[in-house]
Amino acid sequence: AIRAEPPRIRRLEEAVVNRIAAGEVIQRPASAVKELVENSLDAAASSVSVVVKDGGLKLIQVSDNGHGIRYEDLSILCERHTTSKLSAFEDLQTIKSMGFRGEALASMTYVGHVTVTTITEGQLHGYRVSYRDGVMEHEPKPCAAVKGTQIMHGANRADVHTVIASSRLDSIRAVYGASVARDLMEIAVSDDNPARSIFKMEGLISNANYIAKKTTMILFINGRLVECTALKRAIEVVYAATLPKASKPFIYMSIDLPSEHVDVNMHPTKREVGLLNQESLIDTIQNAIESKLMNSNTTRIFQIQA
Ligand code: ADP
Ligand code: MG
Repeated sequence: AIRAEPPRIRRLEEAVVNRIAAGEVIQRPASAVKELVENSLDAAASSVSVVVKDGGLKLIQVSDNGHGIRYEDLSILCERHTTSKLSAFEDLQTIKSMGFRGEALASMTYVGHVTVTTITEGQLHGYRVSYRDGVMEHEPKPCAAVKGTQIMHGANRADVHTVIASSRLDSIRAVYGASVARDLMEIAVSDDNPARSIFKMEGLISNANYIAKKTTMILFINGRLVECTALKRAIEVVYAATLPKASKPFIYMSIDLPSEHVDVNMHPTKREVGLLNQESLIDTIQNAIESKLMNSNTTRIFQIQA
């Protein structure tokens, strides 16, 4: 028999320990709201207001008119196990505050971004400071403030995040999701017959597996995000005629044309454009999409659900 070597035991890095612990304190956005409101009550606030966006996933903000936080304490405010409420273990028997473990704010900085604005009684101005992973991101900045403390807990995750050198498909996946990106295929066509329009088109279009009730069309002409209703309708017609399922398409398309062939001044918003030789251009694109769909239709992918 093979005798397996026991795995080595290592100390977890402090940041890992803190992140694991943070999940125990802040299990869901509502836990953060509860902790913040409790802190406001502990600060003897008589008024507390709560702002929550997207169920707390995007933003949580709790403002109070409590006693505020001393300038000198701001540097350790969001470290783990820093508290003004407990000093000795024996205090636990008589503790009246909601909090005492000094873990809530620290935890929030591990799951999100925390900005604190606070002013204490008798001060002319308050301070604002942001925290991440338990530490101050910068020195506290003097700012205007009314009595008390405002703590803003924003999500770490940006709504859209693109990476340098990510592909077009990566960007579509980031914005529209993996289920859309999975069902796209590349398409490209160019027509440099000078008798007609001179153009180049490349894009990503949905295949036969894609299902949607509404067309999504992202159209760039000469690098400008525009709309071209005629082209959109023409593409919808091809999909309806070619694919058995009555699904509307997802189209990402970038078209390059001589700039004098594009009229961007049809509408004050410059969204809807007119194109020279629009008919022949649309015709070429329709044909390209049709043959792409015909070829893909024979090789449909079926996914097995586990
Ligand atoms: P705990 O409440 O267990 O002490 P927290 O991490 O929730 O731990 O808060 C750390 C400390 O920050 C508190 O002990 C308190 O001194 C200070 N603090 C937090 N929120 C407020 C607030 N809204 N007003 C005044 N002080 C606050
Ligand atoms: Mg607390």
